[in-house]
Amino acid sequence: MREPMAARMRPFTSTIFAEMSALALRTGAINLGQGFPDTDGPPSLLADVAANVTGGVNQYPPGPGIPELRTAVAEHQRRFYGQEVDPERVLITTGATEAIASAILALCEPGDEVVTFQPYYDSYAATIALAGATLRAVPLRPGPSGSPTFAFDPDELCAAFSARTRVVLVNTPHNPTGTVLDREQLTLIGQLAVESDAVIVADEVYEHMLYDGREHVPMATLPGLADRTLTISSAGKTFSVTGWKVGWVHGPAELLASVRAAKQFLTYVSGAPFQPAIANALALPDSFYDDLASGLQGKRDLLSAGLRAAGLTVYPSSGTYFVVTDVAPLGVADGVEFCWRLPDLVGVAAVPVSVFCADPDLGRTLVRFAFCKRDEVLAEAVARLANLRKALAA
Ligand SMILES: *Cc1c(COP(=O)(O)O)cnc(C)c1O
Repeated sequence: MREPMAARMRPFTSTIFAEMSALALRTGAINLGQGFPDTDGPPSLLADVAANVTGGVNQYPPGPGIPELRTAVAEHQRRFYGQEVDPERVLITTGATEAIASAILALCEPGDEVVTFQPYYDSYAATIALAGATLRAVPLRPGPSGSPTFAFDPDELCAAFSARTRVVLVNTPHNPTGTVLDREQLTLIGQLAVESDAVIVADEVYEHMLYDGREHVPMATLPGLADRTLTISSAGKTFSVTGWKVGWVHGPAELLASVRAAKQFLTYVSGAPFQPAIANALALPDSFYDDLASGLQGKRDLLSAGLRAAGLTVYPSSGTYFVVTDVAPLGVADGVEFCWRLPDLVGVAAVPVSVFCADPDLGRTLVRFAFCKRDEVLAEAVARLANLRKALAA
């Protein structure tokens, strides 16, 4: 018998989220590992989808997505970022995940290089491998002492670019670190992309989850970058419906046509009954978006304080619904082993950051917690975590 799996897929047989969620279920632990909210999205959105399903909106929608949703995405970009987007240059996808996969598969020749930051969202490395491309992952590290935020070293970023760089895959706000890249950092990334004639793929699924007054800057709005940037987002995060898997990508005509060519043979079309409902939801008033961010900011504060009280180093999260901690102050040397023990120790599940790194030493003692849970669930998790030091000593 031959090997049952192509070599390029062998490193990607399981995901840490599935493993940790199964462990949380088995042990009855509070699952702060996988990032999904434990409350539903806006009631109007849920009702719209239900009405669409019973009302017969159940067959193949148009390949690029229904015109109402493509127009709603374009209007959303104008409303929040003053960006002019032609609805003809919006493609609806099966989640942001498919938009990313389609872009990488469509753009990369085998051997082409994709520059991104590590730790990264876990689909990046697998997708790049599927495409036969090469991952060049630039570390995000906690800043010099005094500055607790994660950042890249500009020299390391420059060194990652080469004549083979085809794509720069940028995620801001950044999962897992909660980093929001600032205009200066984005400008440097853009300059390097221009110099290498690389396409920027901007994963902006957390665009509405920024805290402490920070503002999201879409890569495509920086001077000179619109004509080489594919911007990706998704309903899953913004509307707390991570299981629906409806996303979108917009960008210049030729690049979008190439993404569409790949998408049509991955899934062909996406989520008919969801599309008209999400079009309506994108037009929800500012209060919806403001409440989303302010609610999550409070949850971040609640969990961060509890983690700090439990003796972990907490790296402040400026966006997303994750907070990264260092467990080294607890005398723990390995985050993976720690996460396997945590449900038994105190009844909480989390995920180790090293699994999101090409170089696992980078995040050896870092652990990610999700705070997109009801306040009472977070309060209970904090109460349990208060026993952590004692449990580790026992
Ligand atoms: C959740 C997530 C995605 C995937 O979004 P879907 O719409 O569920 O496919 C992509 N990128 C990042 C950084 C994410 O956290």
